[in-house]
Amino acid sequence: MNTITGKAVVGAIARGTIVYYHKNEFAVTKRRVVDTELELKRYTSAKEASEEELQKLYDEALERLGEENAQIFIIHQMLMSDAQFERCVMTHITEDSYNAEYAVKRAALELVQMLSANGSDYVKERTADIRDVSDRLIRHLLNLPSKDIKLGENSIICADELMPSEALMFDRKKLAGLCMASGAVNSHASILARSMNIPCIVCMGDKICEEIDGKEAIVDGYEGVLYVEPDEMTVRLAEERIKSEQRKLEILSRLIGKATETADGRSVRIYTNVYNLAEVENAVANDAEGIGIFRSESLYITERVFPNEELLFYNYRRALEDMKGKEVTLLTYDMSAENIEEMLDLKKEPNPALGYRSIRVCLEQQELFRTQIRAMLRASVYGRLSILLPMIIDVGEFRYARSIINDEKEKLREDGISFAEDIKIGAMIETPAAVITSDILAKEADFFSIGTNDLEQFTLALDKNNSKYDRIRPENSTAILRMIKIVCENAHRNGIPVVLCGELASDFSLTEVFLDLNVDVFSVAPPRVLPLRRVIRSMDLSDEDRAKNVVSQLLDI
Ligand code: PEP
Ligand code: MG
Repeated sequence: MNTITGKAVVGAIARGTIVYYHKNEFAVTKRRVVDTELELKRYTSAKEASEEELQKLYDEALERLGEENAQIFIIHQMLMSDAQFERCVMTHITEDSYNAEYAVKRAALELVQMLSANGSDYVKERTADIRDVSDRLIRHLLNLPSKDIKLGENSIICADELMPSEALMFDRKKLAGLCMASGAVNSHASILARSMNIPCIVCMGDKICEEIDGKEAIVDGYEGVLYVEPDEMTVRLAEERIKSEQRKLEILSRLIGKATETADGRSVRIYTNVYNLAEVENAVANDAEGIGIFRSESLYITERVFPNEELLFYNYRRALEDMKGKEVTLLTYDMSAENIEEMLDLKKEPNPALGYRSIRVCLEQQELFRTQIRAMLRASVYGRLSILLPMIIDVGEFRYARSIINDEKEKLREDGISFAEDIKIGAMIETPAAVITSDILAKEADFFSIGTNDLEQFTLALDKNNSKYDRIRPENSTAILRMIKIVCENAHRNGIPVVLCGELASDFSLTEVFLDLNVDVFSVAPPRVLPLRRVIRSMDLSDEDRAKNVVSQLLDI
């Protein structure tokens, strides 16, 4: 057995046969031609054939994977028809008398270089797409066969790095897993794997090579391990895990449509945290009662450019429509310490987690914020929309953000554009400052959402991304539980609800105490919705002495 490790992208496990995917590397020679008219004609017909092919890929992807995933082929069509790119190809043919394939290759290179010179990080990711588009054109010019490969049942695709269009061209029903020698956790291919929910591992190094083609393997997307020619014991353990996961899912699915209430009749709601529209589908499939956080920054992370108002509007409207009247809470840009520099082309700060991030950026770079708010307001007529403001540390900050929202409402009114009048605006409670001023904030905000990930980081002085300190992270910190208690009390005194939306919300060992503290809504990842409903339905909270004991023991009061 050969064990190859990498970074886990999608937590799932599968057994299958490795298909090593070769890219069609083709040599493009540089030639001077006499008949430039002929080269132009060759280019035009290659473009037409590529457009047809992209349209077919779009239609197929739309049917199999939905609009959001299919959009990549629209982007490719747009890149191929980009006026600057086309002009560049034409100039290389007519003025430099280059052959069409070399003109395309050179134009693509120049486009990448020009965008890089603008210092745009967007290019880093889009380079792959530009290459993909020019490869397609060149393939048609050279009359090379399509890159499509026919898969057998349960194929585990191993490749150096997959282009988004390559990841999409495989038949989902036959695809058991994706393993890449390089790649990135947030590349398009990884994002697609996530939305297809197939095990996926990236950064596996050069052991991912031709030699493993055709071999039996197990891909463990939880641990980030590919077992090539697994021994009997590994196969048995994996099979057991696959079976038990299927069984668990079947049993859980019986809770779809059932109420989220304890055995003694106390009702709470379970919402879900999502990154994109594909995850909204997951929210619906897992019977979430609402969306507690819809993170818009993922739209940037995948595209490496801030989305314009129309794209935001499209995403928000779809989320609201898909949730069919259930509450959808849209989080305003919450740029984190990890992605802030590349998102805004900033210099590295010494303590980015304590620096220019989240609402601080929005209140300063207002056009960014206002664009997002306008998209949210316009979408609000399609369902039940709430707006959540992250990283609030002071009531003045909350008021200022709300005044910008009101300002944008006024502008829409003047333009005769409708929006819902009853949009709730919530404050995310994720700093000790917000907890300690939650009595004041509760008089202004329509709801609270406790972000325990940041709250733990700032309260316990523990960097949430530093796994070195995981071992000293207290399992149920008295400080955090006391803070949740303070926030719930202040909220309820002022008649507003509390959502618990950090990772702690899905720590089932604390569900009982959260219920005793009167948390109104739990917001967890889509696959955790039904398991949490099961835990809640099994609880009986009728004995008040029990509640006092649980709370006082854990909170040390
Ligand atoms: C949180 O802080 O708890 C939260 C939900 O958001 P993030 O982890 O993205 O900061
Ligand atoms: Mg946070």
